[in-house]
This record gives sequence, C-alpha cells and structure tokens, in this order.
Amino acid sequence: MTYDKDNIFARIVRGEIPCHKVYEDADTLAFMDIMPQAEGHTLVVPKAAGEDIFTTPPESLAAAVHTTQRVARAIKKAFSPPGIMVAQLNGPAAGQSVFHLHFHVIPRYTCKDLGIHAADPADPAALAAHAARIRAAL
Ligand code: 5GP
Repeated sequence: MTYDKDNIFARIVRGEIPCHKVYEDADTLAFMDIMPQAEGHTLVVPKAAGEDIFTTPPESLAAAVHTTQRVARAIKKAFSPPGIMVAQLNGPAAGQSVFHLHFHVIPRYTCKDLGIHAADPADPAALAAHAARIRAAL
C-alpha cells in the first residue's frame, strides 16, 4: 500500500483537522481517540510519514515510543487505572483503519472492560476534559 499523505492523522498533524491535543513536540503528537475504547484512550503519532511499523523510519518509531511512555505515565497519574494497554496495529487484518503509524494508549480497569475498536464516537466535551486531565499530569 502507498502512504496517503492526506490520511486523517497526517491532516491532524498538519493542523488541517482539529484534535483534542494532549502533547506535541518536534517529532510527535498525542491526541484523544474520538471513538475511545476507554476513558482516556489517547493516540500517539510520529509526525513523519509512514503507514505502519514496516515503513516508518526507526528514528520516528523511537520518538513515538518515547512519547507513548510519557503519555502512559500521565494517563496513569490522571486516571489511576490499574492497567494500561499499548497497541499498534499493522494492516487491515490486524484491525488497522488509519494508515499512518500510531500507538493506542488505553487505560484498563478490568481485563473485561475494553470497548469496541473505532465504534462509538465520544462526547467532544468529555474528550476535551480528558485531554486536559492528561495534559495536567504530563
Ligand atoms: P487503527 O484502527 O488504525 O489502529 O486506529 C485508528 C483509531 O483512530 C481508531 O481507534 C479510531 O477511533 C480513531 N480515529 C478515527 N478517525 C479519527 C479522527 O478523525 N480523529 C481522532 N482523534 N481519532 C480518530
């Protein structure tokens, strides 16, 4: 598959589409998933182009992992979940639906609480409040 420079996350990185931003640095951006699988579900993307783990430059992957750790720590502080799941899907068969590499950082409260992937849009006001809680914990 060829990288589509107009995929939704590339457009969010360029600021063409709004997001509930949690964190940004020169190489990465973190923002709330609009169809969260749990309260606090955050996405971390490298700014550089790359659709998956095979095509993303290693230095971009490393930057995204660094930010993922930072965001996971902030989610832990903000929401106090007993667990946090980090997921990164490659290819439609794995469930990937946006083809710009990203890490899901999902608070987990029990091993049975995971919502359905990319299914239920959350209230934007709730997403804004969750983003503010995580930002405050960074
Ligand atoms: P994937 O299936 O590629 O691993 O995950 C894509 C994620 O992006 C899904 O969890 C989905 O809910 C989320 N998503 C899809 N469109 C948008 C959007 O426009 N904005 C945000 N913030 N998240 C999105």
